[in-house]
Amino acid sequence: MPDIRNCKKCGRIFNYIGGIQYCPACRDKDEEDYKRVKEYLYDNPKASVSQVSMDLDISVEQIKRYLREGRLEIVDDNGNLFLECEACGKAIRSGRFCPECERSLTRDLSTAAEEIRYKLSRDVDAQRTGWIRYLSKEEEKKKDK
Ligand SMILES: [Zn+2]
Ligand SMILES: [Zn+2]
Repeated sequence: MPDIRNCKKCGRIFNYIGGIQYCPACRDKDEEDYKRVKEYLYDNPKASVSQVSMDLDISVEQIKRYLREGRLEIVDDNGNLFLECEACGKAIRSGRFCPECERSLTRDLSTAAEEIRYKLSRDVDAQRTGWIRYLSKEEEKKKDK
């Protein structure tokens, strides 16, 4: 008797055969995204999750799922780490910061905000190019929806 389920991604009804609960179409798309991430990491082994997500327009959750599923590996034998604490660069398995930085960031939030403001006023031109690139990426995402 066939195991009929709803696809977790698009909601379509399909004949479940095991593994992730995606219909064949979403499974193909997922496989395609996975290959793109893998190729990207091959060229940019030090890329962070957020960088990959932004450049390939694949959600951070999806990339982390590949990590959790063990399809992507955190390579650390030659110093290339996939997930890094955004504050100190220490290897982490999930999230944006290591537990230590998470704690001190919460505490020093006001100080950090002051430092950022100071830096922005100094390197305003360099920062502006970064903003434009970031904004246009965001705009692209909006258009896609
Ligand atoms: Zn689907
Ligand atoms: Zn840290």
